[in-house]
Amino acid sequence: MARFKHYDYNQTKMIPLRFADQIQSGTFEYTLNHVVDNDLDLSIFEQRYRNDINGAPAYDPAILLKIVLFAYSRGITSSRGIAQACRENVLFMALSADSQPHHSTIADFVTRMDEGIAPLFTHVLMVCNQMGLIGREMFAIDGCKLPSNASKEWSETHAELTRKQRKIDRAVERMLVAHRSQDQRVEPKIRERQEAQIEKLEQASAKIKKHLATEPERIGRGKRAKAIKNNITDPDSASMKTSKGVIQGYNGIAAVDSKHQVIVHAHAYGEGPEQHALVPMLLGIKRQLYQISEKNEGILQSTKITADSGFHSEDNMKRLSRMGIDSYIADNQFRKRDPRFIDSITYQEEQEKRQAERGYKHSKRFALSDFDYDPVAGTCRCPAGNSMWCRMEDGRINGRKATGFQGYRKYCRVCPLKAQCLRDPNQKEGRQVAFFDRSEHKESSYIDRMKEKIDSPMGRHIYSQRLGTVEPVFGTWKPTRGSNALP
Ligand code: SF4
Repeated sequence: MARFKHYDYNQTKMIPLRFADQIQSGTFEYTLNHVVDNDLDLSIFEQRYRNDINGAPAYDPAILLKIVLFAYSRGITSSRGIAQACRENVLFMALSADSQPHHSTIADFVTRMDEGIAPLFTHVLMVCNQMGLIGREMFAIDGCKLPSNASKEWSETHAELTRKQRKIDRAVERMLVAHRSQDQRVEPKIRERQEAQIEKLEQASAKIKKHLATEPERIGRGKRAKAIKNNITDPDSASMKTSKGVIQGYNGIAAVDSKHQVIVHAHAYGEGPEQHALVPMLLGIKRQLYQISEKNEGILQSTKITADSGFHSEDNMKRLSRMGIDSYIADNQFRKRDPRFIDSITYQEEQEKRQAERGYKHSKRFALSDFDYDPVAGTCRCPAGNSMWCRMEDGRINGRKATGFQGYRKYCRVCPLKAQCLRDPNQKEGRQVAFFDRSEHKESSYIDRMKEKIDSPMGRHIYSQRLGTVEPVFGTWKPTRGSNALP
């Protein structure tokens, strides 16, 4: 018969533990402990306490800050999870000096942390600066989409919400009438279920009414700005497209220094498009650098800024040029022009394949060359042979002289080629096209100048550093913070 080593669950073993010895030099917890104790000014947290004479002693904010930041670095983001770790994990015990704060204390600290977190972020940057970790040679700006704790189904414009609320009210009315008429006949269980359903709908209607009364309509950007969807649960968040579909959330944008990948400025925007965020991000970098360094003049003008095509627009290129910033912002054709991707068919095929995998439909609409434009007669025929009406004669698009045409609705609606021509075969408007006047001297736009700059060997070299600067930051941050961020 086999024999096994003896064991006894009822035995006693004493394990001596010195918490200070658990925080080993060279580890993240050691740095965190040292920085919080020696470099950060936590007086902003202390101002909240009013227990100088009366009341029980509070948990030291330094302890709470250490365990919260350490928990985030380990992907633990819930207060209950942090409280549990403080009871079970020796590193958390060491950092909290075994004080074991209750989860409600941690939740309260985190909820009110936003008041003090911005100055703390600047203090951390100061420490990084003193240690020579911020090189100021190049800052890479990029964003990632973060889902919020709100359902996208509750995102509508005010007009849509009003319709929804009326529909719910009508449904409640119908259910109440039916409920009263059958009141005595239906089983108590069914009656209870109906009542619960009515109550739920009434709550939804009240929620919409409150939102309509208290939240102003959100208006999009641009010349033809119109009302955009607003979320009832989290009005600051927005519906945004990601590679994994539409989410309700925020666009977290960060500016990262290229020397040691230190984030110098970050902000969450409740908007998917990133173009509008470029200038505020630059001003944010400038503000942070002003606060941490002695040299205050021309900080942005003595560095390089890189960003991807999400931040590319004529307006942004113009502003960067006027601010005298050495910037490298790619446009969405940048890779196609790059000789390193000379096999453009393979590249395009790869792109299409990736888009197909993500569920995007690749648009193969008729190009301008498929339309028969006669500049002398001022007429245009579409690929189906139908004449188009001139919607803009000698107008201007991006400062260039252009003539625009549009298909007649009566032709487009029944056209057999509309799947190849229209963006959406069910759209009400006919196809629009615009032809630029080639005889006009075309002034080089800011976009053209940026293309020329970024296509140069030096431009490509500098832009190529962007990926290695900002992407690893998001790559590390997403899994370790337990975040569900999306590109
Ligand atoms: S959809 Fe309209 S514009 Fe396009 S080919 Fe057909 S008729 Fe012409």
